[in-house]
Formats: sequence, structure tokens, C-alpha cells
Amino acid sequence: MDAVVPVPSVPVLPIEGATQVFPVRRIYCIGRNYADHAREMGMDPEREPPFFFGKPHDTVVPGGGSIAYPPLTSNLHYEVELVVALSTGGRDIPASEAPGHIYGYAVGIDLTRRDLQAKAKDKGQPWDTAKGFDQSAPVSRILPVSAGGHFGRGAIWLSVNGVEKQRGDLSQMIWSVPEIIAHVSRFVALAPGDLIFTGTPAGVGPIVPGDKVRCGIEGLGELEIEVI
Ligand code: MN
Repeated sequence: MDAVVPVPSVPVLPIEGATQVFPVRRIYCIGRNYADHAREMGMDPEREPPFFFGKPHDTVVPGGGSIAYPPLTSNLHYEVELVVALSTGGRDIPASEAPGHIYGYAVGIDLTRRDLQAKAKDKGQPWDTAKGFDQSAPVSRILPVSAGGHFGRGAIWLSVNGVEKQRGDLSQMIWSVPEIIAHVSRFVALAPGDLIFTGTPAGVGPIVPGDKVRCGIEGLGELEIEVI
């Protein structure tokens, strides 16, 4: 290929027990998928259809590590989430067939500039500046379904400087992983390499430079970041 600017590289995630990597195509994120978090954001957690937004794929921070505190915010929030990694895609995937499209699962943090999100909500503007900034998607290594099976229940938690801030259970998700895949695939064609963040339980809050964040999902793994 004779390109006029350097061809962007594809971000990749490590895989548990493998030397191969998982290339990231797109990142979809589901909002308000745990009732207690919907309530803390001032919303009524009815089973309204799930909504989703995107993050650019190069916002991924593979395996966590150091995160530079982003500009233009004074309220950077953590949101621990189960992340689904797709091996195959398609349109209009029935929920009953969705598990067959999943390569594996990971632990992710949907970093959010909460002050910019609040402004966007007020003005009816998009969430890109609140959600899609550099390094806004730390993701752990992927545990393949072939090694760990599927995740529909189990503890999900996050701590800041050793103090627990979030704790829930995957079984509290309003929309299950298969239902989420079915829903998103009605709007867009899903494809190999896609990641889906599936929402966060209650307890979101701010982090500042110097903070060490640890989070994990029972039976899946852990992820650590440090804000610098
Ligand atoms: Mn989120």
C-alpha cells in the first residue's frame, strides 16, 4: 500500500494462555445496565431498550498500567465493566445464537469525564468528549471462552488505593450479554475484533493523579491502572 500518511496500527489485547493477540476493531459501550447505577445517575432503571455509544478503538490501554490524567476535566470517573470480545459478527444476531459469536471476556474500565458528560446531557450534545478520549478504555487480557466459559454471574468490583468503591454481580445486569449482542447487531453489523463494554454497577466516582485503581471479575481476572 502506498499511503500518504503512516498507516495506523491496530490495537491488540493479550490473551490468557496464548502467544497470539486479539486485534480490536470497534468498541461499543452499553449505558445504565445495572439498576443501582442507573439510580445513582438520577435515572429510573426501567427495562427500557439498552442504549450504546462508541469509543475509538485506539483508546484501548492493553493490560492497564499508567494513564495520563486527561485534559479539560476536573471529574474523571472510573466504571468497571465486563468486556465481551467477538470472534465472529453479523447483523440481526438472535440472542440464542449470540454466545457462539463470543471469543472471550475481559475486565475493562470505561473512563469518563463526568463533568463533560453532564454538560453534554444538559445541551443534548454527543458524549464523545466525555467518553472517547485518549486512554479512556483500559482492558485486561482476554480469557477465551474455550478456557473460562461464559460469564453471566459472579462478583464485579473496583477499589481505589485499597478502598473498595464498586461491588456488584454480573447477574444484576438489566440486559444480559446475549441480549446486548442481539440489540447492537440490529443497528450495526458486528464483526470479529469488536469489543462490547456491558455497563457498570453502582459506586462510580472520581480519581485523581496518584490514585491506584484495581478491579476484577470473579473467575475472570483483574486489571490495574495508575493515574499519573
Ligand atoms: Mn460505562
